[in-house]
Amino acid sequence: MSAPQEMSFRESVDMMFNRAVALMDLPPGLEEKIRVCNATYTVRFGVRLRGKIQTFTGYRSVHSEHMEPVKGGIRFSMGVNQDEVEALAALMTYKCSLVEAPFGGSKGGLCIDPRQYDEHELELITRRFAYELIKRDLINPSQNVPAPDMGTGEREMAWIADQYARMNTTDINAKACVTGKPLNAGGIAGRVEATGRGVQYALREFFRDELGMQKAGLTGGLEGKRVVVQGLGNVGYHATKFLSEEDGCKIIGIIERDGALVDADGLNVDAVQQWIAKHGGVAGYPDASFIEDGAKVLEEECDILIPAALEGVINITNADRIKAPLIIEAANGPVTAGGDEILRDKGTVIIPDMYANAGGVTVSYFEWVKNLSHIRFGRMQRRQEESRHQLVVDELERLSSDSGIGWELSPNFKDRYLRGADELELVRSGLDDTMRIAYQSMREVWHGRDDVKDLRTAAYLVSIEKVAASYRAKGL
Ligand code: GLU
Repeated sequence: MSAPQEMSFRESVDMMFNRAVALMDLPPGLEEKIRVCNATYTVRFGVRLRGKIQTFTGYRSVHSEHMEPVKGGIRFSMGVNQDEVEALAALMTYKCSLVEAPFGGSKGGLCIDPRQYDEHELELITRRFAYELIKRDLINPSQNVPAPDMGTGEREMAWIADQYARMNTTDINAKACVTGKPLNAGGIAGRVEATGRGVQYALREFFRDELGMQKAGLTGGLEGKRVVVQGLGNVGYHATKFLSEEDGCKIIGIIERDGALVDADGLNVDAVQQWIAKHGGVAGYPDASFIEDGAKVLEEECDILIPAALEGVINITNADRIKAPLIIEAANGPVTAGGDEILRDKGTVIIPDMYANAGGVTVSYFEWVKNLSHIRFGRMQRRQEESRHQLVVDELERLSSDSGIGWELSPNFKDRYLRGADELELVRSGLDDTMRIAYQSMREVWHGRDDVKDLRTAAYLVSIEKVAASYRAKGL
């Protein structure tokens, strides 16, 4: 018998999709329509750098336009290729549908190692790539709205927004052409940490699901739970920072490009991140043991494993050795279809990517709405809310003194109750609500249907059902 073969990322996503639609009752034509990627645009462009022209290859893939604009990040990485971008665009369709962000799915990528270029060079390259996409409406507030992804962040989004504004001088909604911008360039409070926050809220909601916890063989709360994370980039850093600082989790392993750090007593995420920023890797960090073969640490005994880096890191070669009873996919596609099958058979519970990392696109949605409404969230209501609360507090205090009871409201309560919500609080509340509701919709299917054994299938079922409903509403 030949050894089992691993499929490509896109085949892996398609296979998971097929497994879910086999349990649904969709007309075959519609099933195919939803699965296939509508279009992928490839661009090769030259930029004059260091005295000579360098050619770059970029992609923007549109998976489904059942809702527009389509949405999804742009990544800068040497691993970018058409197969990957199409897989990621498909995941965006399912992700947006699951969390009810009113977008179709898209994804872009530029085949580049951003660390090889200085800031000025990166700006030239990013603006040129953006120019190519804007020209074809592949960046446009009402058609296609990119965001940060691996290797890109606020800075690149600001360049893209500015490039769009230069090319569309009369578009009053120009800022809504891209999300994940810095606050001073039309961004929204809380977007940078949104994906990591979403991972935290997802775990909190999972820990409220008694049956789910039982299936994973976990008990108690998040306090003291041992966490291993792969990748201390934007998502992994914020997720583990919040989980350790606010929920009492112990981060016992951090896997990075050059190796891993382990410490059974828990690592200080901020200290490790500062070390990486200074030294380019985790090697040499003083307060933990260093393990050169970082991938081995994925197999470490722990309660929660958070792959927050690349796709395909848990696959047929190592899935059977993964000991964590619970995996939360902070990255997109970290578990291959083959790896997923092995883990399912073992009873490992996987909180799937399309839900686990949806915090980013959720807050991107809020940012897009903010840009279109041209006003900061909370600007109209905040003081009015405060004055109404003040009325209640004054009345309670008057009643208490007039009746002679002499009750006093605790200052802590008063401060917290009186303060109206600012944009950050509203964003967090909207994100928390989104993550709870989406989890509950998956939970219902996971626990309620005998033919659904895992959360990923449940997530696909919920999301494909919604995409199918919008196609049906269009008469397709
Ligand atoms: N790149 C992120 C993702 O994979 C965010 C996408 C967005 O905000 O549009 O979900």
